Formats: sequence, structure tokens, C-alpha cells
Amino acid sequence: MGKSAWDTVTDHAVWLDDDVTGLPAGLAGDRYVCRACWETVILKGTKVDAKVAPYFSHKSGSDCADPEREAQIDEDTEVVIRLRDTIRALPGVTATTEILGEDGKDPLGLPPIIIACCGGTTVAIERPGVTLPGPDILRRRIRAVRERHGGVEHVWFLKKDPNQFGKLGTLKVRHGGQDDVHHTLAPNEQQEVILASGGNVYWLDGKLVLIPYGVRWFQHPVKKDQDWNAWPRWRSDPRNDWRISKPRPSADADCWGLVPIELSSMTKTQAVFRPSKAHRVMDELYAAQEQRHRWRNRRAHELYAERHQPVPGPPVRADELPEQSIPLVPVQETERRPTPPALPPNSPTPSASEPGPSHAQATDAGSVASPSPESAPAPIPPQPQHPPRAVPAQRKLRRRWPAIFLPGRSRRRYR
Ligand SMILES: [Zn+2]
Repeated sequence: MGKSAWDTVTDHAVWLDDDVTGLPAGLAGDRYVCRACWETVILKGTKVDAKVAPYFSHKSGSDCADPEREAQIDEDTEVVIRLRDTIRALPGVTATTEILGEDGKDPLGLPPIIIACCGGTTVAIERPGVTLPGPDILRRRIRAVRERHGGVEHVWFLKKDPNQFGKLGTLKVRHGGQDDVHHTLAPNEQQEVILASGGNVYWLDGKLVLIPYGVRWFQHPVKKDQDWNAWPRWRSDPRNDWRISKPRPSADADCWGLVPIELSSMTKTQAVFRPSKAHRVMDELYAAQEQRHRWRNRRAHELYAERHQPVPGPPVRADELPEQSIPLVPVQETERRPTPPALPPNSPTPSASEPGPSHAQATDAGSVASPSPESAPAPIPPQPQHPPRAVPAQRKLRRRWPAIFLPGRSRRRYR
């Protein structure tokens, strides 16, 4: 006895907790189909004086041939129905559940899709179970949605899969003047298929929606008169950095970062399900990235200049000065003293709560280094009270770079 079925006449999902008034009862010309075993089902218990709630009975009279799948489909459908009701509650919005792209010989394995309309805007909303069907089946669904509702935005609200989340760790970022931490993940083939088709992949996490952007790791090239080695107070290689692709991850992204926003913010003005708030955050991440890249490049130049600075010889009395200038002796490697990095004017002086080294780590892991404007003078903060940990050679650091993706290790090393 299933609670849901496919109405082959309307292509809508029939959910028996909804009002079934108006639906023809009984066999109705083989109108209803079980989505688990694809057998025709009969709508029963719809009479006013019926002693039972409405239910679907398989035509053969026996139970569903795949009871586990039937229960799973009912469960997934119920989630969709609840989301549909949430959307319907928005002012001026209509929402229905349809079943598109189905084939009895090769079922999709997807719950119904929600078609939400607000004014002249229509959005197709998917709320699949944890496991997405294969790429070919997804493409069939995407095609079916286009054929029925050409040009609509196709939005997929996925469930967080524990096998996918938590594997790559987090990315420290800075936006809105504050530090933040974003989850990252490696997209799977199905998610890439949806994205490549023009659809939007989001995750629902309670009342939050996670919106992805692309993260592309790279190393800053060493330009002329730049020194990227052993930056004072940096525990990792400052050349390791990243670029964002937005508002959608590009196909060549190494991983996806996720901006969390409230679900309600996507429908505040109209039910278009556009994550404008997340896009604003991504714009800030981009602006911060440009500043960060400039700051690091300038810092590499500054360090080079500092480390290749001529030093004066020992003081001599004026009467001992030769007629010609004393040739300047270059500083030996061992004599170089590290200087604290030129932090931007608004950066806090390293303190217990914001020590320099962890600032540097955060920068390496992706956060913004709060660089100063190009033209602004770069003040030198005081030396930290406790000297920073010795910085290993760059070659060694480069090998360790991928370790920042490992959250456990990252925590151990930097907290
Ligand atoms: Zn069945």
C-alpha cells in the first residue's frame, strides 16, 4: 500500500495526504502506476464513508514487488511534498509536483519535480534523495524538463552526502571585513553533469542552502626581483594561492567552495530561487583575491629589496675616509635577518588572539591577507614577542601544501 503514485494522465505525482477530491477512484483506466515496480495501482478508500484513508493497491492484489524501494520513494516524495508546501506558502507563488522523463522500462529513480511559478517566472526544483541516478538518467530528466518547461531555471537542492562532505576540509576566507570558513568538496560526475547542462547544484542543510563556487589552486610565478622564500612568520609557502570561479564553478575547478545562505533569502522578494546573497559574497571573495594577489606580489618584491640591500661598512672616522667610496659588500645569506611582513594599515598588530603565524596560515589556506592599497605606505608591525617557528625550506613546504586540504591535520598544525 503506497502513499504515492504516478498519474500517467497528468504526469503529476499523486500524494494521498493531499486532497484527492476530483481524482477518479479505482482502476481509472490504468491511470495510476507504482513508481517502485511500475505495476498499475488502484486508488481505493476515497469514498466519503470509507473506513480507511485513501491508499494505492497493486492491481495484482499482492504487495509491491519491491517494498523497500516503494517505501524509499514514498519517503523521498514526502520530502518533496513538504518543500512544495513551503514554496506554496510564499505569497503569489504556485507550486505543483510533476513526474517528467519517466520510462517504465528504465525508471529515473528520482522523486517528483516541483514546478514553482511566480508571476512570469517558472523554476523547476529538484529535491532528490542522497544518491543521484547515473548521468544518462539525469540528462533524460533535464531534457524532459526543457521539453515541458522550456527555458526555466533548473535548481537541484541536494542532500548532504556524508561520503562527499568532510573529505577535503575547509577553506579560510575573508569577506564583509570578517574571517569565515567555507566547506569545500570535490563534485561528483552527476553534479558536474547538472552544472554542465546549465542547472544549479545547491545543498539544503537545515534552513541553510550551500551555494558552490569554483576553487582553482595555483602557485604565484617568481618574477624578477621577487623573493618568495622563507617569509617571516609564514608557516607555509606564500606562493600557494587560489582563484575563484563564480557565480558558478568553472569546469576546471579543483574543488568547490560553499557559501551558506538562509533558504528564506532566496525567496525574499520573489520565488526565483536565486542565491543573490551568495553571489554578493562571491564578488567580495573575488575582490579580496585580487587584493591578496597584489599584496603578495608586492611583498615578494619588498623582501627581495630588503634582502639585497647594501649594508654600510664599519663606522670610520671622518679623517680616515679615503678619497674614493668604499665598495659595498653584499650581505651574506647567514647575515640576513628576517623582517616582519608589511601588514596593511588596518591590520591588527599581531596579538594573542590574532598571532602573526596563524594569520599567515589563514592566508595560505585561502583567506584574504587584507592587503593594503597599492599606494598606501606599509607600516612595519613590532616583532612578535615570541619569535616565530623556524620556517622550513620552500621545497619541503611545497610538498606539504596539499596537506591543507586535510582538516584534521590542518587543525592539529594550526590551532
Ligand atoms: Zn509497486
